[in-house]
Amino acid sequence: LAVPSDSPTIFDKIINKEIPANIVYEDDKVLAFRDTNPQAPVHILLIPKVRDGLTGLSKAEEKHCEILGQLLYTAKLVAKQEGLLENGFRLVINDGPSGCQSVYHLHLHLLGGRQMNWPPG
Ligand code: 5GP
Repeated sequence: LAVPSDSPTIFDKIINKEIPANIVYEDDKVLAFRDTNPQAPVHILLIPKVRDGLTGLSKAEEKHCEILGQLLYTAKLVAKQEGLLENGFRLVINDGPSGCQSVYHLHLHLLGGRQMNWPPG
């Protein structure tokens, strides 16, 4: 289990193009790229380009409402781009050790292209 931390993460290197990523969407605030360890045929991570204290959703404050909304709406746009709107998809935010969070830069997982199960376990 990863220990929660304020240190820079691997996602900063992806944002700064210091390491490659398969980027599927980018604007001035949000970056979306394919997960290197995909758990579904489509597995994309959406992140704020500026972390601004958002190591995880548990650190969200009122000032983050705009970027949080932007991330959620962008997830829909990327789901459409990936052809997931007809059959559906899943969004996941892991938070903290019990949530199995491993990278402490807020991110949404967009999963699709197969039948998901519930409860997730
Ligand atoms: P978490 O467990 O924190 O919710 O999710 C972190 C995700 O980041 C994992 O699904 C993991 O596979 C992905 N990941 C970790 N390092 C990299 C990387 O360097 N590049 C990409 N594209 N994904 C990564």
